[in-house]
Amino acid sequence: MKRSLRIGSVAGIGIFLHWTFFLLIAAIFGYYYVQSQSVGAALAGMGLILAVFLCVVMHELGHALTARRFGVGTRSITLYPIGGLARLERIPSEPMKEFWIAIGGPAVNLVIAAVLAAVLLVVDGTFNPDALQAPGQHTVASLMWINVALAGFNMLPAFPMDGGRVLRSLLALRQDYARATQTAANVGQAMAILFGLFGLLSFNPILLFIALFVYVGAQQESQQAVYRAFTEGMPVRQAMVTRFTTLDVDDTLDDAVNELLAGTDHDFPIVEGEKIVGLLRRKQLIQALSAHDRDTRVRDVSAEDFFTTEPGAPLDEVFQKMNAESCTTVPVVDGGRLVGLLTLENVGELIMISSAIQGRSPAPIRRSDVNEDTVRNVAGDDHASSESTTLP
Ligand SMILES: [Zn+2]
Repeated sequence: MKRSLRIGSVAGIGIFLHWTFFLLIAAIFGYYYVQSQSVGAALAGMGLILAVFLCVVMHELGHALTARRFGVGTRSITLYPIGGLARLERIPSEPMKEFWIAIGGPAVNLVIAAVLAAVLLVVDGTFNPDALQAPGQHTVASLMWINVALAGFNMLPAFPMDGGRVLRSLLALRQDYARATQTAANVGQAMAILFGLFGLLSFNPILLFIALFVYVGAQQESQQAVYRAFTEGMPVRQAMVTRFTTLDVDDTLDDAVNELLAGTDHDFPIVEGEKIVGLLRRKQLIQALSAHDRDTRVRDVSAEDFFTTEPGAPLDEVFQKMNAESCTTVPVVDGGRLVGLLTLENVGELIMISSAIQGRSPAPIRRSDVNEDTVRNVAGDDHASSESTTLP
């Protein structure tokens, strides 16, 4: 999130702008200025793009608020030049819930388009189909058509875009989740290749980006579905590490360095008696060493935003939450007492072992696979948009 600027929040969900978004705004201004040689027209063009992104935010909120109805939180919504991305904690494994969450975004664009169409009919008496050729002159009509395009493009069955999720959820009603995901991912990758070819032929770099997102996203999702199949129904206790190193509240950075070098642990729970009061991650330790004295207490530099779980909690849900929050270590607490640690590494080992026993062998979990609990909404320069919710 550090590379994103928080611009506000809606319904408790933070809205962020990625820094590259500002490049887009500058590029759009430049493009319109070169085309029209007029600052006014350039500002109008920029205004239209900002309005489009407002619609993209509403699209993401459509997903996020539908998810909330099913008890699934959203960490943030971030806008990138190619669209928006809502970070959901997880995607429910119940197909109909995924169906409604996926369809919630494009539905918002259709509602916006309908409202704008009504406004146009009342004010103008026409929808003005030429609007997209001259967006500066027909802003409301352009915005209406763009919303229709956003809904349509997102509903293409290019998993993990919205339409692909709808496809997966419908398939999952009839077959098991991993197989439904595999089919949807195959269709998604075929679509990605089409996007890529079309992007090349039309010299459309944004479409190429979308093709790449869809292709990689589909691959990750199908792998994550396999992971999910392995962890489903398992309690956290089955995958947690019970031998681990803790730091005391009064320990210093020096003590932490000694522990880091002495063993293989990367993240250290900080305890007061048997109670966990903090979590020192390796990254924080390294950062702290360059900014603080070595006799600084670990507690003063440790994370307070970590979450804990319980031994009986469902592993697949905790695993998804770890992915969503890019969190490698989760302390396991029983009745206020720290009893174990759940680490991505260990869950990965468990999956490899289970799969070896069952004669299936997914690749080991890589960090790059695991922070994709996201709904991604990608808008092309034709103001179309795609989407991916990559969840394990
Ligand atoms: Zn969407």
